[in-house]
Amino acid sequence: MQINGNYRNLQPNYLFSTVTKRVAEERRRHPGKPIYRLGVGDVTLPLCPAVIGALGKAVEEMSAAETFRGYGPEQGYDFLRERIQQYYAAFGVSLDLEEIFVSDGANSDLGNILDLFSKENTALIPDPVYPVYLDTNTMDGRKVLFMDGGEENDFLPLPDPSVKADLIYLCSPGNPTGAVYTRAMLQSWVDYARARGGVILFDAAYESFVTGDLPHSIYEVEGAKECAIEISSLSKTAGFTGMRCGYTVVPRTLEREGMSLNRMWLRRQTTKFNGVSYVVQRGAAAVFTPEGRRQTGEATAFYRENAALIAAALRELGVWFTGGVCSPYIWMACPEGMGSWEFFDLLLREAGVAGVPGAGFGRNGEGYFRLTGFGSREETCQAIAALQELYRARGLAG
Ligand SMILES: *Cc1c(COP(=O)(O)O)cnc(C)c1O
Repeated sequence: MQINGNYRNLQPNYLFSTVTKRVAEERRRHPGKPIYRLGVGDVTLPLCPAVIGALGKAVEEMSAAETFRGYGPEQGYDFLRERIQQYYAAFGVSLDLEEIFVSDGANSDLGNILDLFSKENTALIPDPVYPVYLDTNTMDGRKVLFMDGGEENDFLPLPDPSVKADLIYLCSPGNPTGAVYTRAMLQSWVDYARARGGVILFDAAYESFVTGDLPHSIYEVEGAKECAIEISSLSKTAGFTGMRCGYTVVPRTLEREGMSLNRMWLRRQTTKFNGVSYVVQRGAAAVFTPEGRRQTGEATAFYRENAALIAAALRELGVWFTGGVCSPYIWMACPEGMGSWEFFDLLLREAGVAGVPGAGFGRNGEGYFRLTGFGSREETCQAIAALQELYRARGLAG
């Protein structure tokens, strides 16, 4: 027998374990010294009352033979898919129910969707970006090209017509950068993909953080239904990181080599996936009710305000950054050419602030640093004060 040797090519992912380890060491060295955690990429607020109510009711239903549910439709119950359909309609995107597939989260589908594509394809991935795109393609042995994000393009790389890529990853609002593509920028990606016959995999995990006129969905752009799959999640939208529910949109008009990717995905899901639990789907449907939208919107606004407070402090210090507006993330330049890990250690030791070194998100992340708005207001404000004090005491410049 042979194992999948591609696993040998995976880079060990020590990012979050190293961060956790260094924070624990600092605690041991200085017990009692406060450490403000602005690094965690997980939500902290509990599920909203609308979701809790729906979950309770669904659990009750499972206790009586008349209302008990066994296997459900693999692509998700209509009561949830109809809500998602209405949600998209609110930003001008009309979807057929058959185009919406309920999942147990974005990560599963980001990996599973690759079942539909030949391993001979080339993937194009932003650098820096969420590490899952690279790892899932490496596991398949697919060739990967990177598109450079940097201060010159505000970490929003645009297509280079000379690059030959088949699978194009976009994440907007971005993790770790918090940067958001405009409609015009997404249009250039759609035009590039269509000209090449490529397929865009659009990660919309943070779309609920978008405000103003920026796009929530790739389908707000002309022609996207001929070239894009959108993968989204309730994890950051509604605090579902531990509940596990998301959705993937595969348009019916998306065809390659005479095959419908929508039908291929349906076939794949009905074979390899038996759907998300009834109880969780009831909780998810409550997210899209007017009450659920209001309650989850309050939580999102709270995280966004935390990020805005950090952004305001950095602006005042003259530090270069992206994000902090339509995102829970702030992506800041380390001071005076300092390396990501060097800045991590300085910030932790001198200010008691724990963030995430940008180098963990790709080569171009070196020299940058991620802070998040997922903490409590108190912790965020204390961290900001400690950061300001460090910059002033050390005479650090942006
Ligand atoms: C958190 C996150 C996900 C994972 O979502 P799940 O639904 O919890 O699997 C996907 N993409 C990005 C960019 C994320 O930050």
